Amino acid sequence: EVNKSISLIEQSEKYGAKNYNPLPIVISEAEGVWISDPEGNKYMDMLSAYSALNQGHRHPKIIEALKRQADRVTLTSRAFHHDQLGPWYEKISALTKKEMVLPMNTGAEAVETAIKAARRWAYDCKGVEKDKAELIVCEGNFHGRTMGAVSLSSDNEYKRGFGPLLPGIKIIPYGDINQLREAITEHTAAFIVEPIQGEAGIIIPPQGFMEEAYELCKAKNVLFIADEIQTGLSRTGKLFASEWYGIVPDMYILGKALGAGVFPISCVVADSDILGVFNPGSHGSTFGGNPLACAVSIAALDVIIEENLTDRSRQLGDYFLQKLTEIKNPIIKDIRGRGLFIGVELTVEARSYCEKLKEVGLLCKETHETVIRFAPPLTITKEELDWALERIKQILNSP
Ligand code: PLP
Repeated sequence: EVNKSISLIEQSEKYGAKNYNPLPIVISEAEGVWISDPEGNKYMDMLSAYSALNQGHRHPKIIEALKRQADRVTLTSRAFHHDQLGPWYEKISALTKKEMVLPMNTGAEAVETAIKAARRWAYDCKGVEKDKAELIVCEGNFHGRTMGAVSLSSDNEYKRGFGPLLPGIKIIPYGDINQLREAITEHTAAFIVEPIQGEAGIIIPPQGFMEEAYELCKAKNVLFIADEIQTGLSRTGKLFASEWYGIVPDMYILGKALGAGVFPISCVVADSDILGVFNPGSHGSTFGGNPLACAVSIAALDVIIEENLTDRSRQLGDYFLQKLTEIKNPIIKDIRGRGLFIGVELTVEARSYCEKLKEVGLLCKETHETVIRFAPPLTITKEELDWALERIKQILNSP
């Protein structure tokens, strides 16, 4: 048994494509904020599968919903109606105060859906000349790995060797309102933005940018699309991070915690003057909005509301951030975040610190070389956070 993890890692490395560089740990069981490896070592999960596990691992209510639905019907395709879709739609609509929902499976697929919706809206509603529609996005963005999503990226490693990419995309610096103003033309369909950039290293835009960007888009008849796949559903201490700026975007893109890490489900949400551009045959997905995903997602959303994960995230996040700032070490360059979505930027590479944190029982992942992201399940307790803080202090204070 001693070498179980090692042999499993070797097996993965032998057969798997090398598009990830995971920490050398095998997770074989999980509950709440805790995971364990085949040897029985326990760790605290401080990544939450990139915020897909906001409700914690295997939340009993959500697992119960999965099992109950698995015993009834799992997939119908959208060729027929099923009894979970309507209730799920209505719940999302109530939470977002938007009229229409379009379900997909993964975040990137929802981003593709948003791109298609924005382009078609530009032609059908705004009157943009055929095939001239443009999208504006921000430097450092992360919208996923499909061809459309990587076409939006400013990172060469995400795009190298994958061309030709989608045309009609303009990239502005995150937070530069003047460049946004200059980038908008009569052909602009949408501005797609993360309210806080996650993969870029928990980057909060400069004061006033989001509000002004929203006003600008309104004035110029440009759709304001918030990619809340990572920031949404209570991660930042608001149900949607857009609320930090007092903004209601024209379209939300949601994923990750929408399925609580139990079943993949994503969606775009907007009013019918936008999502109404889709007609039968124009878009779809065999698995999108399937009964199992909807049943899980209904429970996932109920848990967010019933357990008040939004306020938990904000209160515990404030506490955690405050305690982190008490760690004094010149290698710490910046500590920033909202709710339990916190980045600690170092003056040195973060990878070795993530490896050391793993040795003392904390699982985190570096993002963009120098940032350690702390994003535990929002169900974490204050005592568990204190347990983590002790270890973070120990590691960040060691040479
Ligand atoms: N958009 C944002 C903001 C994300 O953080 C992610 C994933 O990290 C995605 C899109 C892509 O989601 P998925 O990996 O489910 O395709």
